[in-house]
Amino acid sequence: QARDITGDRRMQTAQRIIKSYRQRRATVCVLAGIAALILTLAFRFVSERNLNQQRVASFTHHAVVNFDRLLLPLESTREMVSPLVGKPCDGVHLQLRKIAASLQTVRSITLVHDGILYCSSIFGDRHVPVHQLQPSLPAKTTLLVLSTDKSLLKDRPVLIVWFPTAADGQSGVMEVVNIELLSRLMLEPQPPLITRVALSVAGRHLVQGKGLLETLPLADDEKRYQRTSQFFPLSVSVSGPGATRLALQHLPSQLPLALMIGLLTSVITWFTTASRMSFAREINLGLTGREFALFCQPVLHAQSLKCVGVEILLRWHNPRQGAISPEVFIPIAEAQHLIAPLTRYVLIEVQAHRHLFPADAHFHIGINAAPSHLRDGELLKDLHRLWFVHHPVQQLIIELTERDALQDVDSRMMRELHHNGVKIAIDDFGTGNSALSWLEKLQPDILKIDKSYTAAIGTDAVNSKVTDIIIALAQRLDIELVAEGVETPQQAQYLRQQGVQSLQGYLFAQPMPIEDFPAWLAGNATPAAHDDRLAPLMTIEDHSSSS
Ligand code: C2E
Ligand code: CA
Ligand code: CA
Repeated sequence: QARDITGDRRMQTAQRIIKSYRQRRATVCVLAGIAALILTLAFRFVSERNLNQQRVASFTHHAVVNFDRLLLPLESTREMVSPLVGKPCDGVHLQLRKIAASLQTVRSITLVHDGILYCSSIFGDRHVPVHQLQPSLPAKTTLLVLSTDKSLLKDRPVLIVWFPTAADGQSGVMEVVNIELLSRLMLEPQPPLITRVALSVAGRHLVQGKGLLETLPLADDEKRYQRTSQFFPLSVSVSGPGATRLALQHLPSQLPLALMIGLLTSVITWFTTASRMSFAREINLGLTGREFALFCQPVLHAQSLKCVGVEILLRWHNPRQGAISPEVFIPIAEAQHLIAPLTRYVLIEVQAHRHLFPADAHFHIGINAAPSHLRDGELLKDLHRLWFVHHPVQQLIIELTERDALQDVDSRMMRELHHNGVKIAIDDFGTGNSALSWLEKLQPDILKIDKSYTAAIGTDAVNSKVTDIIIALAQRLDIELVAEGVETPQQAQYLRQQGVQSLQGYLFAQPMPIEDFPAWLAGNATPAAHDDRLAPLMTIEDHSSSS
């Protein structure tokens, strides 16, 4: 029962560790997902904003180019019309008309002489001082003026082009462009990005639907973008909510995509972190960082109390998480298929420190192994590679715990191990729930009585009777016995009386760093000189020799 409780606690600790790794991994996945989501949104935002900026730029560019295209032919007719200025209207009227008709955008071409508009392509003969119609005319330089019609379509916006023909600027050609209709095409807003388009000429602005404005209004939350013509003193400006604000408004529609990418990233992260963010990785780090220390616990001959061997036990001083008990990391290592690398580590380290152990063929070194390591002869290969090559004189014992599925172990494998001089011990004997038939099949050399049975000695627990049965069974099958977890002189005495060959437990020695073993062995060789820890042994010795 006590064993079950510690077993449960061990499993709980292992599960807690695995769970904490899983939680950390989950956190990383969630964070990666959120990062991908934010990045996607940011990317969509930036590209949408750039696209908006491009749209605005290309819109205004096209508008300016269109106005240029409109005005350039006027520039070229200038040469045809200019020579007509000063000639009598009767003679040139028809010609004027033809030219005006050839320019689809021009409503009328008029000739001005000495400040008087005297000939119009529409009305023919006239006599109006030009500044009455357009206050800025006549002028010495070429002019472009946004104005309102004073003659035909009263107060409708027009674009006037003035080409002076005389140096004093009093004579010249005035062409009136039908800008209203054109502006309806070229200044058409494109909501939501472009809510207003304006053609600006010399401080006046033509806005589609609003007519001529002296100032261009701009709301607080509006942005304006302007482009000036290369050829004419005109510019087109567009205003609207701005590329940034619109891109922001556009973001919610990108959320499904961003969520999908975020989710995908999380899933991918989950799978790619499987090997990195797990306890398995922690064990691998421990192996490469040589964080595992080898301890050994002496096994004593029950009669002479001489040390006849050691069992190698691992200790993990994990610098990241502190000491981790083998009761915790061994089951996890087995579950995560990392027990073989751990065993190889033990084999290598023991060989590197073999000078610490007596060079005696009767001295045995017990190494714990997992039955899964025996599959496909893997352990045997490792032994050949890491153990037998050194030709160790000591007796190797492989301890296989009975809690594992020993019935799956291939008996041929056992014969191979025996053939190579390896002894097999069944660890924690009595704790498994396997049938005893495999005892015959596997033919182990040693049974290690589990410490729960040793603890039951002298009590009236059922286990104390089972201890006797185990001992009888081993003797009947001629299998050597080692009792584990011997803590009291009474237990030691009883076990020895029952004929158990070897004892192991805190009564004699706790597991110690293998480097300390030679000193311990030297002290143990002369028990009388040793500290009071060994005092009970003497009483057993005395007792047995007197009986
Ligand atoms: P185990 O093979 O049964 O090892 C004996 C365990 O009993 C050791 O615990 C030892 O410290 C403890 N023990 C020894 N004498 C006494 C005693 O008088 N009283 C009590 N209460 N306990 C005693 P440890 O070192 O914590 O190892 C626990 C288990 O971890 C081992 O049980 C073994 O199954 C596994 N283990 C340890 N090292 C290795 C290894 O290198 N390879 C493998 N595969 N398993 C290992
Ligand atoms: Ca063991
Ligand atoms: Ca054991």
